[in-house]
Amino acid sequence: MNILVINCGSSSLKYQLIDMNGEKVIAKGLVERIGIEGSRIKHETTGKDEHVIEQPMKDHKDALGLVMSSLTDKEYGAIASLDEIGAVGHRVVHGGEKFAESVLIDDGVMKGIEDNVELAPLHNPPNIMGIEACEKLLPNAKQVAVFDTAFHQTMSPKRYVYAIPYEYYDKYKIRRYGFHGTSHKYLTDRYAEISGKKVEDVNIITCHLGNGSSITAVKRGKSKDTTMGFTPLEGLVMGTRCGEIDPAIVTFLMEKENLSAEEVSNILNKDSGVLGISGVSSDFRDIEDAAKEGNVRAQLALDIFELTARKFIASYMTSYENIEDIDAIVFTAGLGENAIDTRKHIIDKLSVFGLKIDEERNNIRGKERVISADDSSVKIMVIPTNEELMIARDTLNIVK
Ligand code: AMP
Repeated sequence: MNILVINCGSSSLKYQLIDMNGEKVIAKGLVERIGIEGSRIKHETTGKDEHVIEQPMKDHKDALGLVMSSLTDKEYGAIASLDEIGAVGHRVVHGGEKFAESVLIDDGVMKGIEDNVELAPLHNPPNIMGIEACEKLLPNAKQVAVFDTAFHQTMSPKRYVYAIPYEYYDKYKIRRYGFHGTSHKYLTDRYAEISGKKVEDVNIITCHLGNGSSITAVKRGKSKDTTMGFTPLEGLVMGTRCGEIDPAIVTFLMEKENLSAEEVSNILNKDSGVLGISGVSSDFRDIEDAAKEGNVRAQLALDIFELTARKFIASYMTSYENIEDIDAIVFTAGLGENAIDTRKHIIDKLSVFGLKIDEERNNIRGKERVISADDSSVKIMVIPTNEELMIARDTLNIVK
């Protein structure tokens, strides 16, 4: 069966068509600038040249219309007809407390996703638009929602309740949800596959380090704790997000700079993180280059990022009874897979736990490999993530 995986952002849309017989990507693409000037689609069918079309797309329905015509184009497409798409898997950012796993989409599920718009006002609306457009364009294909938050629904109250008046949890469901769940789950399943363990026996600390970053303690195959919280703003310092800060800074800034709630939210989400510290860029490669040229704030941004990652890994190591119980610490995503120095700096200063990196093994980008020394107390690995494949697998399991 061919499964179409859809990931809708506010003005962008990523897609992959995966043949589940062998789990091969047969086409993929990216639509950018939906609803704004300069809309375009970059489509690539495996084995053919990339095809770019620039044309106005006023909304996600227009964008998905162009995705469908690209997939079926005689010259650069991948399939002869849309009937060859058996099901669609949608990435949905916020499942709230209602969705602890992926589900077949029906009216009740749509209502549930809509109810969660309040919790993810930037993310859930485009996800809903993508689902509605696919329902119209592919009326015969079943649709499945795969939630970023679902994997973390196994956390216990002591991990997800914030120390604010409990009534706000009751009233507004303010609690830790955690995100990147599809990636953390993929790593857990993949580690089970590599090690020959059952998923329910896997104990790993998964470090998804990219433009957005989160670390999760996986215990017996389940998320026990994770760094992102009520929104994807908490936890590690990120490309443009502040991560953990003293909440008093928010009200202080609002008063001093006369800022609205939206303005301060934009500062913390879009102008902070390593961009805010360095003033250089949100891209770690630019910051590394600037630091090498002697830019002090760029170096400070890298140091702070590595320090926060280290602090969370160290704290999550205490989630297990013995150090021997931890199967591995796993790095993934843009930085985790590629940033050789960042991995080394994070691990080197965790030597108190007996963690040791092997510099030669660590000298890789984007490959699955053990990077720890033989005498490291815990195995350290790089496993490239594959959220699209995870969504496609969940979709297949549900529609089968
Ligand atoms: P992601 O959000 O997973 O796509 O990750 C994007 C981040 O990974 C960007 O900040 C990139 O600068 C960073 N990244 C990608 N490749 C490298 C690399 N070779 N060295 C350092 N950072 C990298």
